[in-house]
Amino acid sequence: MLLEDVRKQIEDLRAKINYHNYRYYTLDDPELSDAEYDQLMQKLIELETQYPEFVTPDSPTQRVGSTPLDGFATITHQVPLLSLANAFNMSDVTSFVSRVQRLAEEPVDFVCELKIDGLAVSLNYESGVFVSGATRGDGQTGEDITQNLRTIRSLPLRLREPLDLNVRGEVYLKKSDFLALNKLREESGENLFANPRNAAAGSLRQLDPRVTASRPLSIFCYGIGSISGQEVENHSDVLKLLEDLGLPVNRNYRVCRNLEEIEEYIGEWTDKRTQLPYDIDGIVIKLNNLALQNKLGTTARSPRWAIAYKFPAEQAVTKVLDIEVQVGRTGALTPLAILEPVTVAGSTVRRATLHNVDFVEQKDIRIGDQVLIHKAGDIIPEIIRPLTEKRDGTEQVFQMPTKCPRCGGEVIRPIGEAVTRCVNTSCPAQILEGLIHFASRNAMDIEGLGAAVSEQLIESGLVKTPADLYQLKEEDLLKLERFGPKSAKNLITAIEESKKRPLSRLVYALGIRLVGEEVSRELAAYFQSMDRLQKARFEDLVAIPLIGDKIASAVVVFFQEGRNVQLIESLRQAGLQMTAEPVDEQRDNFLEGLTFVVTGKLTSMSRKEIEDQLRSLGANVASSVSKNTDYLIAGEKAGSKLDRALELGTKILSEVEYYSFIEELIKHKRGGH
Ligand code: NAD
Repeated sequence: MLLEDVRKQIEDLRAKINYHNYRYYTLDDPELSDAEYDQLMQKLIELETQYPEFVTPDSPTQRVGSTPLDGFATITHQVPLLSLANAFNMSDVTSFVSRVQRLAEEPVDFVCELKIDGLAVSLNYESGVFVSGATRGDGQTGEDITQNLRTIRSLPLRLREPLDLNVRGEVYLKKSDFLALNKLREESGENLFANPRNAAAGSLRQLDPRVTASRPLSIFCYGIGSISGQEVENHSDVLKLLEDLGLPVNRNYRVCRNLEEIEEYIGEWTDKRTQLPYDIDGIVIKLNNLALQNKLGTTARSPRWAIAYKFPAEQAVTKVLDIEVQVGRTGALTPLAILEPVTVAGSTVRRATLHNVDFVEQKDIRIGDQVLIHKAGDIIPEIIRPLTEKRDGTEQVFQMPTKCPRCGGEVIRPIGEAVTRCVNTSCPAQILEGLIHFASRNAMDIEGLGAAVSEQLIESGLVKTPADLYQLKEEDLLKLERFGPKSAKNLITAIEESKKRPLSRLVYALGIRLVGEEVSRELAAYFQSMDRLQKARFEDLVAIPLIGDKIASAVVVFFQEGRNVQLIESLRQAGLQMTAEPVDEQRDNFLEGLTFVVTGKLTSMSRKEIEDQLRSLGANVASSVSKNTDYLIAGEKAGSKLDRALELGTKILSEVEYYSFIEELIKHKRGGH
C-alpha cells in the first residue's frame, strides 16, 4: 500500500471511531454493535503498529472515552481511569500472560473477574464518607454525578472504616430491569435503549437525579485508585478489603496461577454467562501483585498488567421475509419482522419486534433485507441494522397500514407520538389482548384462561368484556370445542376464585395505559378503594411519589370513559374486591417509632411538606440532630445538622433516597404480611 493511502485509511478510521465514540460515550446511543466497533478499532491498531510514524497523541488508540456531556460539572481524576487492552481469542490471552511473566521476571498469580457491561465510575470517600463520584469521561476528567450515584441503593454512603479511598466500579442495570424499562418507554412512545449498558449510562448521566432514582441501578466495585493508611499486597486483597468496607464486590472472581487455570475460568463463564442476571461482555485478567502492577505501568490508554478477554459476539445475519402488523391491548399497531429462522445465543429466532414505525424508518429496515440480529438483554431478539451493502434493489420499504389490520377501523398517530393506534374500542384484537391481560398470572391469575381459550370465548360471542367472564356457566363452556365437563368446571372455579384477588391486582388487570404492577400497588394502597381511585383528580395523582404527569393523565382518561365505568360497575356487581387489602390500612403508621430531622433546601416539596408527610406516616419529627435521631433528610446546602449527623453516624438520606426509602418500606411491609 502507498504511504499516502495508509495515511488516508488511518484518518478515515479515526474519524469514524471518533464519531462512534461520541454516539456511544456522550449520547449513550450507539449506531454500531460493539463487535463492529471493535473491528474498526482493531484495524486502526494494526495499521498504527505497522506504521508507527502515523501515530498521533490524539488518535483514539491513545485516548479513553469521549468528552463529558455539557451541563455537568467536571471532576479531575486524581489517578486517571483507563480503558483495558482487548483479547479476542485465546492466543491473545496467551501472549498477554507470557508478556507479563517475562516483564515481572518471576512467577506470578493472576485474578480473573467478570467484565461487567456497564459504565465505569470513580467514587471518593473521605474519612469513610462518600463525598463525590464521577464518570470516566476522557480518562482524565469525568462528569460530576455525585447526586445520581447517591441514588444507587447498594452504594454505601459511609464505609465501615473511616478511610480516605478512591474506588472504581461499574454501574449496571439488571437484564430484567432493562427489559421492563424499555417496555415502559415503548408504551409512552420514548426512544428505546439499545442494551442494558446504554440504559445504565443514560440513567446515570441524567441532569435530574430524580430520574436516576427511578431506575434500579446497581454497582460492583473492582479496584482502587488510592487508599490512605493501608498496606495491601495483592489485588485479591483489595477485593476482600472493599467487601469488608461494605462495598458491593462481585464474588465470582478467582485467583489463577497459570494459563491453564485462566482458560478454565474463561471457558466456565463463556457457558454460564447467560444465566447471570446482568450482562457481562468478557473476562478481565489482572496481575495479582500490586507492586508488580506498578512496575509494569500503563500506556496512554490502558494498564500493561491487565487485559479484557471479549466474548465472541452472539449475533447472526438473517433475512426479513415480511413485516406483519400486530394490534395490542391498547390498540397500538406494532410492526413485527418475520425472519428466516436462525440460531442466536442457543435458540431459534423467527421474529423480532420492530416497536413502531419510527424504529423501522430510523434503522431503514426493508422487507427482503439481510439484517444483523442479537438478543437484547439476552432474551428479546432485536434487529441491530440492515446490511445495506447487500441490497439488490428488490427490497421493499414498509408502510404502516392506514386501516387497522384486524377490524378495518380508523388508525391515528397523535402528533409527537411514535405509536399508531386503532381507535375502535370494540376492535376484536384489543378485546382479545385485554382479556388475556386481565386473566394473566400477575393480574387476576385465572388458570386455564390463556390466549387460545380467550380467543374461543370472544369468537363464540360469550365474552365481550372481562365482566362477562363472571356470568359464564359450565353449560356455556360445554358448547365450545375442546371443553369437557372437567375443564369447564375447572375454568368456572378458577374464575370464581379470581373474585378474591386484591384491589391492586384488579387495578393492574384493567390494563390502564402506563399502569404496571408497581404503580397499581401504589394506587390501591393510596386510595384504598376503586371508588376513590375512580374519582381521583390529576392533582391528587401526581401528589403520590412514583406517579408522574403521564401516568396521572392516563389514569384520569381511563376513568372518564363510559365504557370503562360500565365495566367496573359490572365487575362490582359480580362481587370482585373493590377495596384494599387490610395490610394497606397499616400504611399510615409505617414510620412509627422513628425520629427524623429535615434540613437543607429541598426541590420537590418544601421542608414543611416533607415534615407533614413524615408525621402522617407516624414518624416523630425533631428540629435538631441528637443520638435519638434515626434519619436526617438532607437537602442541598445542608449545614451544621449534616455535620452533626456525620459526627454521630446518623443515617443520612438525600431527597431522592427518601422517596426510595419510603417505597422500599412499603414494599417490605406489604411483603411481610
Ligand atoms: P472496555 O469496555 O473494553 O474495558 C474497560 C472497562 O471495563 C473499564 O473502564 C471498566 O468500566 C470495565 N470493567 C468491567 N468490569 C471490570 C472489572 N472487573 N475490572 C476492570 N474493569 C472492568 O473499554 P472501554 O474503553 O470502556 O470501551 C471500549 C468498548 O466499548 C469497546 O470494546 C466497544 O465494545 C464499546 N464501544 C462501542 C461503541 C459502539 O459504537 N458500539 C463505541 C465505543 C465503544
